[in-house]
Amino acid sequence: MHDREFGNGNGYSNGNGYNNGNGNGNGYTNGNGNSIGNGNVNVNGAKVIKMKPMDSELLREQGHIMVDFIADYYKNLQDSPQDFPVLSQVQPGYLRDMLPDSAPDQPESLKELLDDVSKKIMPGITHWQSPSYFAYYASSTSVAGFLGEMLNAGLSVVGFTWLTSPAATELEIIVLDWLAKLLQLPDHFLSTGNGGGVIQGTGCEAVLVVVLAARDRILKKVGKTLLPRLVVYASDQTHSSFRKACLIGGIHEENIRLLKTDSSTNYGMPPKSLEEAISHDLAEGFIPFFICATVGTTSSAAVDPLVPLGEIAKKYGIWMHVDAAYAGNACICPEYRKFIDGIENADSFNMNAHKWLFANQTCSPLWVKDRYSLIDALKTNPEYLEFKVSTKDAVVNYKDWQISLSRRFRSLKLWMVLRLYGSENLRNFIRDHVKLAKHFEDYVAQDPHFEVVTTRYFSLVCFRLVPDDGDEEKCNERNRELLAAVNSTGKIFISHTALSDKFILRFAVGAPLTEEKHVTEAWQIIQKHASKFTRNGHY
Ligand code: PLP
Repeated sequence: MHDREFGNGNGYSNGNGYNNGNGNGNGYTNGNGNSIGNGNVNVNGAKVIKMKPMDSELLREQGHIMVDFIADYYKNLQDSPQDFPVLSQVQPGYLRDMLPDSAPDQPESLKELLDDVSKKIMPGITHWQSPSYFAYYASSTSVAGFLGEMLNAGLSVVGFTWLTSPAATELEIIVLDWLAKLLQLPDHFLSTGNGGGVIQGTGCEAVLVVVLAARDRILKKVGKTLLPRLVVYASDQTHSSFRKACLIGGIHEENIRLLKTDSSTNYGMPPKSLEEAISHDLAEGFIPFFICATVGTTSSAAVDPLVPLGEIAKKYGIWMHVDAAYAGNACICPEYRKFIDGIENADSFNMNAHKWLFANQTCSPLWVKDRYSLIDALKTNPEYLEFKVSTKDAVVNYKDWQISLSRRFRSLKLWMVLRLYGSENLRNFIRDHVKLAKHFEDYVAQDPHFEVVTTRYFSLVCFRLVPDDGDEEKCNERNRELLAAVNSTGKIFISHTALSDKFILRFAVGAPLTEEKHVTEAWQIIQKHASKFTRNGHY
């Protein structure tokens, strides 16, 4: 049983938080100490406080407490980092001993609950919002994104058809047109043509729906019985969601071609390999129908060259999807737009605004060139969802552009982020992150014990301790140990990948609170722990 206090006077339980005179400790009672709803008696004769799930005064009172709690969290992440190990240090199953075996019969107070969050949940949180978080790709938050989520939770509409909340559908169309213009996407991705945008929950959902659309488009042409002959292409750096999407879509595993990459193309897909693979497959009677290109791979932020890949896709009539989950966000800056040159020949494009555009999770805009392909694959028309509109124009029903029926009003927060910050601020923030990554890269480059492994395009630096005697296996082991050592400090969190059988360390800047001092401190921690592996043991 580890019922350890979270923090030692500087964490949540100090005078800054919810228990600073705000909480009344009386269960579901309002600010005056009165019960919400009438008292009742259960079968055992015990008094039960009748719940009133949505009471505006209780919401006002407890909403303020919660906002204070969250604001204190962000403040304390910066002021008292020692209380928030960036990578959670708990052991598997830690929570089981801390919580009761069954749910309570009677209401508990928000104060009790938030006490448990501080003491029991927080130790098991990996602090993605810590300024010293440098792992994977960040999950970017902002006040605007947070407020948008709040408004979304408050309205709680389910805009699966236009009718079920016209504003939810219409705002999504408008905001995705705005974002498409910021990215300078070709006009055919705008809602004014045959294409349009839709906000999926995640990049995984986005690639799945376009694989299904492309599959049905080709099967319509060649006949359903040829499903086993369909082949798809991507590089060996493509996100694992692509394989999953293909398998869900009934594509045979042996028909998924993951083309080899190496350092000669900085891990981008070689167009020559693609064309050779397609020619070979055609000669064997296969039907190439889908290419997944990536701008900013998960592993090393590699960029597949869209111009030549798009020409190949066009030549063979293959659907090309561009997965720009992380790096697509940077393409709102004119200097990074070049990475999606060639997008004119793509059929679909996806980015995660929750990764680097400050739209709290989840928010994954997807644009398609031909919305009817998507709708043909995914539409459902049960009688109970039928409705008539007075306008002559057909309305968008986003249920037909995604897997699930229910959907959140995600465009609200994207709209709020774009309006409350303005695109110039967003561009500058992304540029600042890239500068911080460059700063880290300079540290690495100046240290002879380390090397930068790939050419950096955005805010991810791939680096490692160099092998001191050419022994790659030993070198991998040392980098693995270094990773474990720095992450176990709780002071920073970095992650890793493998490139050409080398164990690589990843330093990705993207958390909204990160400043230069955090990057410098991270480098000092890495250097300190690396000294164990260097020849003279110190710098
Ligand atoms: N594609 C790329 C290039 C990614 O980096 C990621 C996640 O990091 C994904 C897809 C999956 O995104 P999601 O987690 O939104 O499904």
